[in-house]
Amino acid sequence: MSAGLKHSTSVSSLASMDKGTNNEDITLSSLHSHYSRRTSANMVLGPGGPSSGYQSHVRPENRQRQTDMTMERMDYDDDKRQRSQAKTKRKKRRNMITANLSGTRYDVIRQMVEHIGFSVAKDDDPTCFLIWNDSFVSTEKISDLKPYQRINHFPGMGEVTRKDNLARNMMKMAKAVPEEYNFVPRTWILPSDYNIIQNYMKDLKAHKKSKTFIVKPSNGAQGHGISLYKNLEKIPAQEHFIVQEYVEKPLLMDGYKFDLRIYVLITSCDPLRVFLFNDGLVRMSTEKYLPPAENNISHLFMHLTNYSVNKHNEFYEKGASLDAGSKRSIKSFNEYLRRNDYDVALLWRNISDMIVKTLIVAEPHILHAYRMCRPGAPAVGDSVCFEVLGFDVLIDRKLRPWLLEINRSPSFGTDEKIDFDIKSALIEDTIRLLNIKMSDKKKNMTAQKLEAQKRLFRPSKRVSDTADMTEYDKKRASIERRKDELKELLSRVKKAGSREEYENRNRGRFIRIFPSDDKVRQGKYIHLLEAAYSTFMSGRATSMHKEIQLIYNNKLKESDIMDMIAECESDEQQGRLSFEGKRVAGTRGPKPLASMPSSDQFPGTDREEDEEESESASPPSSPYHRGSRSRPGSVNSRLSNNRTPSIMGSRPNSGMVQPGGRPMSSVGPGQSRSLSRQAGGQKLTNIQRSNVDDNFLTNVIREREEELVRRTLQALNDMRIKFPGKSDQEADTILDKLYENWKFHKPRIASYWLVKLDSIKRRKVIDIVRSNVRAVLQRTWRVTDVDSLPVYRMFSRVFNRLLWSHGQGLWNCFASSGNQASWETIFSKSSDTVDEVELNCCRRIVQLCKDCLLIVYQFAAEAKNASQGGDRENEAQVTQRSESKPSLIPPNTQTMSQRYSKLYARTESTS
Ligand code: ADP
Repeated sequence: MSAGLKHSTSVSSLASMDKGTNNEDITLSSLHSHYSRRTSANMVLGPGGPSSGYQSHVRPENRQRQTDMTMERMDYDDDKRQRSQAKTKRKKRRNMITANLSGTRYDVIRQMVEHIGFSVAKDDDPTCFLIWNDSFVSTEKISDLKPYQRINHFPGMGEVTRKDNLARNMMKMAKAVPEEYNFVPRTWILPSDYNIIQNYMKDLKAHKKSKTFIVKPSNGAQGHGISLYKNLEKIPAQEHFIVQEYVEKPLLMDGYKFDLRIYVLITSCDPLRVFLFNDGLVRMSTEKYLPPAENNISHLFMHLTNYSVNKHNEFYEKGASLDAGSKRSIKSFNEYLRRNDYDVALLWRNISDMIVKTLIVAEPHILHAYRMCRPGAPAVGDSVCFEVLGFDVLIDRKLRPWLLEINRSPSFGTDEKIDFDIKSALIEDTIRLLNIKMSDKKKNMTAQKLEAQKRLFRPSKRVSDTADMTEYDKKRASIERRKDELKELLSRVKKAGSREEYENRNRGRFIRIFPSDDKVRQGKYIHLLEAAYSTFMSGRATSMHKEIQLIYNNKLKESDIMDMIAECESDEQQGRLSFEGKRVAGTRGPKPLASMPSSDQFPGTDREEDEEESESASPPSSPYHRGSRSRPGSVNSRLSNNRTPSIMGSRPNSGMVQPGGRPMSSVGPGQSRSLSRQAGGQKLTNIQRSNVDDNFLTNVIREREEELVRRTLQALNDMRIKFPGKSDQEADTILDKLYENWKFHKPRIASYWLVKLDSIKRRKVIDIVRSNVRAVLQRTWRVTDVDSLPVYRMFSRVFNRLLWSHGQGLWNCFASSGNQASWETIFSKSSDTVDEVELNCCRRIVQLCKDCLLIVYQFAAEAKNASQGGDRENEAQVTQRSESKPSLIPPNTQTMSQRYSKLYARTESTS
């Protein structure tokens, strides 16, 4: 069909070129030289055979068909050529770093991406290495990214980029550390602070003082909707605005007010790394500045410095150079300051200090949101998010910087040369600093595989097991734990070292401002970070304080940590030697996983051989491996190879085959038996071991993982939401009744869930199920760190979907009908494959959340009824009355939270 359309179009267009009678012939003959092969092919096919005078013998009625056939052939060949060209291009692109720029309108980004040597994808390709979006991106999109990808926004950044959020968070921080957070002009948020503002005005009047205020839309930009007020009594009470004290004495240049657009890059939030670009824009107003008075208060060209406002003034000067006109460079501004004897270094120290302090306020929010999106991401991995922020800073006459606002999508428009010069350098340096490498993709796949294998062969670390442990096992477990921590620290330190090295070589015009090289400053920032966590995440403050010390204040060097690991290993060996003889028959230790060789099955005589095996089997890049290899011949390196191979980062083969040559006791059916037979009590040579097929291993791992998912599903199916004071059966009956009379209950439950409960409480309801699911995973998969399980990552996506739009996601699940529930699209859109059992687990989780909501609702309703009536008669009446009303919700929030905690305690798995 399309071919037909295409060829008729070709013919008509060719015909229109020449209206002569022989137009087809003429056209064809002119094309003949280009397409001689095609024409001859056509001649063979023609009715007259391959004769030179073929065309003159063609009957007129056949001539059109003949032409069409030729054109068809040409189109076909064109298509073929295009396809092969596309294929070559695709192939070429496959070997290039790709960028998805479909979400940005700025050409300078495309130019810089190509300048660096990346290939720009034609469409919205979600698998590109680099994704650049002008607007903010959904958390789902960030969750779906593979670790080698980078996207230019962090989740949670709105906490400092929306004007009202910035004001609220700054106020909270100013309460905790007032002397450090005094760089934002005093701000109030409307409508909530309306009365406070009115009282403040009265106070000013009483003291015969006058001030100017600037009122801005909470989520505004580019100067839209901004006005200045002398008297706040006139401001509208109901609008979503912020009111800010106006900085009345700004520093002026040539008599004009200006502000600075400063660019800041965050390459990672876990740990936080912040860079300041050493140039930017100075945006001048276009009417000479006068202190605000009634007669000039509405002169926007005088009081606002936005380019978007001032470009409309006839006096706006498009600068030909970097130090003239209405837009100038920050470099030229620095020169101006120097010429006028200002302390430029001090100003920039203060500005960078202000930026870091602001991002310290943002960090708890960003880190939390980021970890929610990327559960289980390795602590030493690269961040998938980065962000270029535009800080708008006003300088007053005392050279004090004031933070006006932060833009998460600063303009990359290049209306003027100065824009291009600064922004192109900024983008180029940003991309270079991200250190995107072609090899990341492959490396990442290998790392994921290794991680999966490591997880599967890790011994149980359940706390409850300690009761069954012998003294020896307890000690060993504690040393093991310590060693794991040290190894993680070692990886972090190594990663930090290599990252810093890369940054120093590739930072271009960026200066790193956090972490700071200045020890005193860094100490202050650590203190402020702790204060930020205490302020914004008080529940997790203690654990975060520890993490902060570990990440930002670690004083141990690589060699120190390696010594400490060596100490652990020597402790371990000594402990083993002294305990080995004392082992009493029948003493119970932690049960090893079926696939784990237990330590007492390692005959000492095989050590040499094992060491060799481990050497060849360990990935050369494994930091653990390198750590133990750095002391060749030491007790530790020998011991490390005798221990659980998977923990030591060895190839999983060594976890499958005991060092003594015996295969593990229970691997997959079929293959495991043949391996057992082959081993048959004999030792496997190294070569035999290395011949253990990778596919076989992958199969075994997959089978084991599938089995664990099946068990998870079983446990989830067995799980019930407890109704306080009622049996499971009674709870089931309540749920049945609610579902049976759904039409009746629906509006009440909707009003309860969507209106009465706030988003924190809605999250708490879903968290009841989440914490129980985590417990199930811990039990079933025998891991403490469930966040690292891919299956939990999958569940997390479901929970996030249910929490979507503050719990609207869960409510939608009640409404969805048909073959596929709405939440299931999170998987159909993703490239990850989800099998039926996994999907059933997710379905069960959704059901549990629905049940949980209904039970919480019913519980709240009953509690309210009980509190309203003493005797049964009254109770009945209340029930009747309340049934006719939509609100069955207890009004007291204090009691609500108590009830939640009761539900927490009583909700448990029956598995
Ligand atoms: P928008 O996001 O709409 O650009 P801003 O907060 O950046 O809003 O304010 C716009 C302009 O108004 C600034 O560039 C600055 O010139 C001026 N301005 C904003 N707040 C103040 C203030 N508190 N004191 C003095 N001038 C201000």
